[in-house]
Amino acid sequence: MKSLFEEASTLFPHTQQLRRDLHRHPELGFEEHRTAGIVAQELRALGLEVSTGLGKTGVVGLLEGAHEGPTLLLRFDMDALPIQEETGAEYASTRPGVMHACGHDGHVAIGLTVARLLAYHRDEIFGKVKFVFQPAEEGLGGAQAMLEDGVLESPHPDFSLALHLWNEKPVGWIAATPGPFMAGSDVVEINLRGRGGHGALPHQTRDPIVTAAQLILALQTIVSRNVPPLDVAVLSITQVHGGDAHNVIPENVLLRGTLRTFSKSVRELVLNRITQLTDHLVHAMECEGEIKITDLTPPVVNDETMAALVAQTAREVLPEVIVDTSYRTMVSEDMALLMERVPGCYFMVGSSNPERGLIYGHHHPKFDFDEQALIYGTALMSAVALKRLGSK
Ligand SMILES: [Zn+2]
Ligand SMILES: [Zn+2]
Repeated sequence: MKSLFEEASTLFPHTQQLRRDLHRHPELGFEEHRTAGIVAQELRALGLEVSTGLGKTGVVGLLEGAHEGPTLLLRFDMDALPIQEETGAEYASTRPGVMHACGHDGHVAIGLTVARLLAYHRDEIFGKVKFVFQPAEEGLGGAQAMLEDGVLESPHPDFSLALHLWNEKPVGWIAATPGPFMAGSDVVEINLRGRGGHGALPHQTRDPIVTAAQLILALQTIVSRNVPPLDVAVLSITQVHGGDAHNVIPENVLLRGTLRTFSKSVRELVLNRITQLTDHLVHAMECEGEIKITDLTPPVVNDETMAALVAQTAREVLPEVIVDTSYRTMVSEDMALLMERVPGCYFMVGSSNPERGLIYGHHHPKFDFDEQALIYGTALMSAVALKRLGSK
């Protein structure tokens, strides 16, 4: 097994060349035509059965092992972000205002290298590996679109794996946490309606601005006073829109925010309190309020057996590794939608390098990662796949 790290290292020049090419040519969600073309071409060249156009620009490649067995789904996201790159790297984006600032270029390069590596090991595989290259992960609904186009059909996978390069931690760090790992995400929207009027004659109005101010503060008590202290939730109000003139009290104020939770019960508790606080406060202030909740993604919950396999394999295969089995984060991932249907493990691969200044976080214009992390990601995912499908 140790040799898988060496095999991934041998293939690194290819991985790096793929990653840098993708980095130079980033594409936004559902527009990954060039990227999908490269993916399909690479997978076909390796002898995989390839389907394109799932979820608009998604690609699926099926690798048949030499022997009968279950199907393992491996998922890689492909989209970039609407950010102007400021890294100054020689392989920087050539497209103004678009940048691979989350590392999905690295994910595609890892995915294609894993496909190459597993194709070499086809004789040892009992089952099938379903490579899923997903569009539009950045809040745009790529996983849902692929589900609607049948990504989990023929064959239906038995297990799944996905990874994210993670610049919060250095190369050599791996997170493989059993149970809840990434938070579920809801958009919270509250439209407050009052009665507009002259800013100098407030007694003739029902001021939605003052109501909004009180409601924003009241909402802060949900996490601090209602959620049990050993549970977790985040409720951030991130948008406040109201008013167009200094002397006019507006009719409406729109509040928008994000809710992150790990469990159904905490999510329901927070949503109930949002409704109660809004209804009562709005009533007290003689305004009206309308709440809209949009469920974006459920939490990513790792299967205990798969997470244990990833952790154990990381210790066996990767040099100088730190395996963290208790890490959790409030960011969200639409891989959760696939993992609700197919048990699996979403793991993270540390990718920062403070000595080289590669420390900026995901979605920052200076985001860049240490490409050594590509070897760690490739070796670990390949090794877990070979272990899971390595015998009858
Ligand atoms: Zn991102
Ligand atoms: Zn990402």
